[in-house]
Amino acid sequence: MATNRTFTMIKPDAVEKNYIGGILKMINEDGFKIVAMKYTKLSKEQASAFYEVHKERPFYGELVDYMSSGPIVAAILEKENAVEDFRKLIGSTNPADAAEGTIRKIYAASIQANAVHGSDSDENAKIEGDFHFKATEIFA
Ligand code: UDP
Ligand code: MG
Repeated sequence: MATNRTFTMIKPDAVEKNYIGGILKMINEDGFKIVAMKYTKLSKEQASAFYEVHKERPFYGELVDYMSSGPIVAAILEKENAVEDFRKLIGSTNPADAAEGTIRKIYAASIQANAVHGSDSDENAKIEGDFHFKATEIFA
């Protein structure tokens, strides 16, 4: 059964280009409630651990370097059917394939620098949220 939370990051390229406000506006206007949020920066070790599932993929090393290259915004979002609805809102991994009106279509620069992260399952949403936030930092 679908749960009501997902996890997102506004990635270093989007932060650098001052897209935080525009992306958060789209998230709020799509009906997501922000229940946890922080402005932070991943160390190489943290980025390696976060993306561990991709460690055999050819882009892993570059992805870790990129995700630790500058500050990010991390957040837990709440909405009915959150994981699936948020994947719809962000669009395809490669912005060239992303649907019109999606966050990646509007804000992403490339398949790597694709503006935002969105969890791919309820299980991973929980793992990723717990990676960044203590229970006392979540306000439902
Ligand atoms: N990525 C990349 N090259 C690729 C595929 C993915 O650099 O060919 C990066 C991109 O930043 C992506 C992240 O790795 O968001 C995780 O990949 P995944 O397949 O999980 O895509 P997502 O779930 O973010 O759409
Ligand atoms: Mg993914």
